Amino acid sequence: MRLKGRCTCGAIRYELTAKPLIVHACHCRDCQRLTGGAFVVNVWIEAKHVRTKGAGPQSYGLKGGSGKRHDVFFCGTCGTYVWSRYHVVPGDCLFVRAGTLDVPSAVTPDVHIFTRSKVPWLDLPEGARTFSSIYKLDRVWPAESLARLRRNAA
Ligand SMILES: [Zn+2]
Ligand SMILES: [Zn+2]
Repeated sequence: MRLKGRCTCGAIRYELTAKPLIVHACHCRDCQRLTGGAFVVNVWIEAKHVRTKGAGPQSYGLKGGSGKRHDVFFCGTCGTYVWSRYHVVPGDCLFVRAGTLDVPSAVTPDVHIFTRSKVPWLDLPEGARTFSSIYKLDRVWPAESLARLRRNAA
């Protein structure tokens, strides 16, 4: 089953044509501020697997925690943030906001990152893989996702 989603007003509709490479819960300050929430759930996936219908999103560029550019993409009508592109990441990938999926519970975070800025009232599930900032992909990702990322970056 393909994951589908949309912005709040429905001007942007999208479909993911492959399964996520990995799903991040990110507790960094940028994600908290951008979403207005305690953390964001991002589906990391090749851009070619994000098929959009309707209006294309607008973007705003900021400096990511890595020092490299981070573009956030949002609906020009309703302002919903639909995804990000981090220029530090190899290949052409997007980080799709799982809260914009029609069924957000269709994905579960594989890892929690930047837990150093996690809000203290939030307890993560027992056994969750947590990292105080980022992590080494080849120590965490399944081989299949690593191979896909390598193909995408080639
Ligand atoms: Zn919209
Ligand atoms: Zn973040």
